[in-house]
Amino acid sequence: MLPDTASRSTPLVGVLALQGAFNAHQIALESCGAETRQVRVRADLDGLDALVMPGGESTTMSRLLTTSGLFDPIAERISDGLAVFGTCAGMILLAGDVLDGRPDQRSFAAIDIAVRRNGYGRQVDSFEADIEVASLDGPVHAVFIRAPKVVSCGPSVTVLAEHDGVPVVAKSGRMFVASFHPELTPDHRLHSLFLQEV
Ligand code: GLN
Repeated sequence: MLPDTASRSTPLVGVLALQGAFNAHQIALESCGAETRQVRVRADLDGLDALVMPGGESTTMSRLLTTSGLFDPIAERISDGLAVFGTCAGMILLAGDVLDGRPDQRSFAAIDIAVRRNGYGRQVDSFEADIEVASLDGPVHAVFIRAPKVVSCGPSVTVLAEHDGVPVVAKSGRMFVASFHPELTPDHRLHSLFLQEV
């Protein structure tokens, strides 16, 4: 029995649980072999190997990150090298530049991309598409719900998938982002890809 080794080999992944689609991310991550913890207060960050920022409403999450006191400690953990997967609103929270945001909306500016909120249109313009992701065999079925549209990427960013010529999955350092909702489909290969980096 090697409990220490065994526990280290299972990453502990926090899922920001202030608002949005956090439960489905936990299910996806656990099916990939990770342990998960909902993150609502500062102490929930202790010992995390990685963090997921889910889809939802980035303006609401921005406000709740401030009122919960989580914004600064998360920013600190990111600058210390915490791996983060941001999906949809979570991608907005990680972006360096947010277009069409609220004036008081904050982001961690952890990946050098500019995104336009609701860049594909309103709720009725939500859509699904099969996309090819670098290093994955076979397309991923992607659900876009009032998704942010990437309008530019800096040189540090690697684009892993595009839809109609627009980046929809990208990474840079320990940051991994998708403009759609990978937790809403039973295919968890994107979560696995993220966990390979953790
Ligand atoms: N449009 C939302 C926002 O601005 C994001 C939508 C989503 O996460 N599905 O935060």
